[in-house]
Amino acid sequence: MNILKYFKGYPEEVLNQIEGLVQSDKLKTYLITKYPAPHNISSDKLLFQYTNGLKQQYLKKAPQLSKVIYEKQKDIVQSALGNHTFISRNHGGKLKSKHEIRVSSTLKKAPMEMLEMLIVHELAHFKEKEHNKAFYNLCTYMQEDYHQVEFDLRLYLLLIDLGKDLY
Ligand SMILES: [Zn+2]
Repeated sequence: MNILKYFKGYPEEVLNQIEGLVQSDKLKTYLITKYPAPHNISSDKLLFQYTNGLKQQYLKKAPQLSKVIYEKQKDIVQSALGNHTFISRNHGGKLKSKHEIRVSSTLKKAPMEMLEMLIVHELAHFKEKEHNKAFYNLCTYMQEDYHQVEFDLRLYLLLIDLGKDLY
């Protein structure tokens, strides 16, 4: 079991607690009790609409979204924490930025809060490239319990990695 893969840098006490959850087979119970049902954002079209809605609500002035899609990605840790591209293109002498968000298909059947957390993370990168204090302030402005949900997302990925489905 590779807990460290998902919880790199976390205190030993926390790692022990997680190991306890896994060993006693209570990881799934913990997650399903907290997140009883998956979200229903099942298509790229719905994903775009949802993301654009959040953007309109919180980051109105940020550049327009060009694309938001689900995508099969190799590295589950890297990919589930998002992949963002900022492409600059030359349009008739004017530089235009294209903002694309690619979401790992692992999150297609995840709890709503986790999908929201990932989108919030990616949207925050529109304003802050680094994972600094300003970045996380922006995240918690858009999703109050951002940090808890991010922690639970890591647990969710661990569960999937153990070969189990949440739903
Ligand atoms: Zn990031």
